[in-house]
Amino acid sequence: MTIQTPAHASERLILVLGDQLSLPLSALRDANKDRDVILMAEVAEEASYVPHHKKKIAFLFSAMRHHADLLRREGWTVRYVQLDDDDNAGTLPDQLSHELGTLGLSQVVMTAPGEYRLKQAICDWAAQNGVALDMREDTRFVCSHAEFQTWAQGRKQLRMEYFYREMRRKTGLLMNGDAPEGGKWNYDAENRKPAKGDLFMPQPRQATRDAITEEVLALVGTRFAKNFGSLEPFWLTVTREEALLALEHFVQTTLPHFGDYQDAMLTDEPFLYHSVLAQYLNAGLLGPLEICRRVERAYYDGDAPLNAVEGYIRQIIGWREYVRGIYWLKMPDYTHANHFDAKRPLPAFYWTAQSDMACMAAAISQTRDNAYAHHIQRLMVTGNFAMLAGIDPHAVHEWYLAVYADAYEWVEAPNVIGMSQFADGGLLASKPYAASGNYINKMSDHCQSCRYDVKQKTGPDACPFNPLYWDFLIRNADKLRGNPRLGYAYRTWDRMSAEKQHAYRSSAAAVLDGLT
Ligand SMILES: Cc1cc2nc3c(=O)[nH]c(=O)nc-3n(C[C@H](O)[C@H](O)[C@H](O)COP(=O)(O)OP(=O)(O)OC[C@H]3O[C@@H](n4cnc5c(N)ncnc54)[C@H](O)[C@@H]3O)c2cc1C
Ligand code: SF4
Repeated sequence: MTIQTPAHASERLILVLGDQLSLPLSALRDANKDRDVILMAEVAEEASYVPHHKKKIAFLFSAMRHHADLLRREGWTVRYVQLDDDDNAGTLPDQLSHELGTLGLSQVVMTAPGEYRLKQAICDWAAQNGVALDMREDTRFVCSHAEFQTWAQGRKQLRMEYFYREMRRKTGLLMNGDAPEGGKWNYDAENRKPAKGDLFMPQPRQATRDAITEEVLALVGTRFAKNFGSLEPFWLTVTREEALLALEHFVQTTLPHFGDYQDAMLTDEPFLYHSVLAQYLNAGLLGPLEICRRVERAYYDGDAPLNAVEGYIRQIIGWREYVRGIYWLKMPDYTHANHFDAKRPLPAFYWTAQSDMACMAAAISQTRDNAYAHHIQRLMVTGNFAMLAGIDPHAVHEWYLAVYADAYEWVEAPNVIGMSQFADGGLLASKPYAASGNYINKMSDHCQSCRYDVKQKTGPDACPFNPLYWDFLIRNADKLRGNPRLGYAYRTWDRMSAEKQHAYRSSAAAVLDGLT
């Protein structure tokens, strides 16, 4: 692509990353449209440090290209480097060196990357090359790093619920003065209903495709042909305008049921009553507070019940902000945490969806088709299985980072390493999210069509989650027996006959031996 020359001699190069697609960005705060140049680049390193889902790459490249056009319409000079451009340097540091050389500049301004890896690479590059780097805090979050550190300091346990209350007070969302709306902070107890199939179940908004998206789809289809996932049908929104429509669509059609069925799973309904907005939010097309304020308004207008609205707002100003805080508090070691010393490689069916376990086949095939699975599928199906089977948590982390359109390490790693694998030893969760087939049966329709029998505890036809659940607890008894929230489970095990215990352990061994 050609470089547009700004009207006056340029001064600073402003790097805008692929997940910084927001006009209000700290890097642009005091920038000069007449003098500064914005750099955006599709580099191979970012597109391949894990084997990202094809839809995820296409979504980001198309959203980046649309954002560059928006910036130009807003009067900025944008240097946009496409993946197949001759002068694409392959990595962001190399691209920065190239652009600084071409433009004769030595100053770079940017909003801090969300991922530790990239932040480190750019800081190291600037130090080694004597570049003046002005890396600014990402102000698109409710809680700053400093604020989170202050909250975390001196606390024995970093529980999300208490952090969330601070964020409610800070934002004033669903607050009546100092008191939470309705008298309670959290309405989760009302949010655990199983769902039934419904012909009229709302679906996420399908975006329109334009020439830019078509061009990107062709590029990704060729360059990333071997990557996981289906490129078509491509229905993701790639502009802020359409992301706002997707938000409105969610509020009007789906939000009222979000709370009730938040934990439910149905084989033929990949999205259920979820918002499917995380990929837009994490790329910067939407902001967390604008989403929460719109959802809050639906409650005050009488369009959605409190359990749905509180539950939704908690996910964003609670969980999302909290996991980001944990990530930056604990990196760089966090992604290598392995509390249970789990070493088993990731089974091949995580990439093929070829499994006789109907729940796993559904979660993985939906992931392959949509670059999406909802929270309970990620936590209680694919995550639960990996933890029970003793899969290496770093391999699990890399899988999640690759396959979801909303996956960035700062949000994915605490959810995987901490919440779903308990690999951080309980920093984030008070007990492992381990469950037998009974939980999946209660919350889904998967077991009805499964080759395994969820009621059978042991033997070749038993649901694999059943023996694996006990095997996991016993394998890791030295680390878990003292957990007060697991006392009941260990007492149940201790009361079992030796014969029954043996049957569980040998059935689990047979399942594990069969994993390839
Ligand atoms: C193992 C595992 C891996 C995950 N990986 C990611 C990831 O890579 N990226 C990601 O954004 N979320 C991740 N999550 C959290 C959550 O599953 C997704 O945010 C959600 O499924 C996205 O779909 P949605 O937009 O329909 O969310 P909804 O169910 O509609 O929830 C609303 C919003 O709340 C936020 N949210 C909800 N739960 C969480 C959470 N635990 N942590 C952070 N934000 C949350 C998201 O922004 C989401 O869009 C993960 C959860 C688990 C258990
Ligand atoms: S029987 Fe077990 S493996 Fe099959 S769908 Fe149910 S929980 Fe999953």
